[in-house]
Amino acid sequence: MSKLKIAELFYSIQGEGRYMGVPSVFLRTFGCNFKCAGFGMPKGQLSEEANAVDPSNYTEYNQLPLVSTGCDSYASWDPRFKHLSPMLESDAVADAIVNTLPFKEWRDEHLVITGGEPLLGWQRAYPDLLRHPKMRGLKEITFETNGTQKLTPEFKNWLIEWQMPHVDFTPEVTFSVSAKLSCSGEERHEAIRPDVVCEYEEVGYTYLKFVVATEEDAEEAIETADIYRAEGFTGPVYLMPVGGVESVYTLNNRRVAELAMKNGLRYSDRLQVPLFKNEWGT
Ligand code: SF4
Repeated sequence: MSKLKIAELFYSIQGEGRYMGVPSVFLRTFGCNFKCAGFGMPKGQLSEEANAVDPSNYTEYNQLPLVSTGCDSYASWDPRFKHLSPMLESDAVADAIVNTLPFKEWRDEHLVITGGEPLLGWQRAYPDLLRHPKMRGLKEITFETNGTQKLTPEFKNWLIEWQMPHVDFTPEVTFSVSAKLSCSGEERHEAIRPDVVCEYEEVGYTYLKFVVATEEDAEEAIETADIYRAEGFTGPVYLMPVGGVESVYTLNNRRVAELAMKNGLRYSDRLQVPLFKNEWGT
């Protein structure tokens, strides 16, 4: 039986990307290879906002403060908050997932495995979880990834087999790749990995989703998308406004929608911000 360290597990509406508006269970795994401390900061500066949150004051995710700069899910990878994320057997995770569903069985809901970065070491645990009897009937799953982690050969082969038609359903895997531009504060050579993303396309529907704030970011997104295309990437490209809190998001969303239209790209909203204020657990 495999184990997963779970930062959050909740039922909500998918607010971003291909499945925007679809009722979804979110499984947020613990750990990330990035920090993305540049989000929302003047160019070249890194956010210290999450560093000012004292982990000893919190026993649950939904008590944690939201941040307007840096990574909006900081507690899902910062080791200072690891006491909030239990390590659970795949059996217990499958039970907990199905218990969040309104009818305690899969109907039209979709599963989002997010992070942190869900394709770090946890790849070895997903087959046990996804073939669990309680997951039978799940038709659609998205991995929300930063697009830097190669699939292991074992997990890649397993995904291909899992998507074969079953008696009453055929699962479909999507990779939502939020590749990090320079506004994230991450190193470009580490963040932009077309070789990795092209491999995702071999086993699932894959799209790129760039978080942008300015025209300059949008230009960088377009240039970066061209680099992926030159390596063989064929999927759609979305622009999504920066903004984990409503005040930042509302400054950006219309401008980013206009930039997407101007450049013939898709626009992704962040419905969780206007609907639920992007609170933890939404
Ligand atoms: S890759 Fe995602 S989870 Fe990781 S630090 Fe960046 S925004 Fe946060």
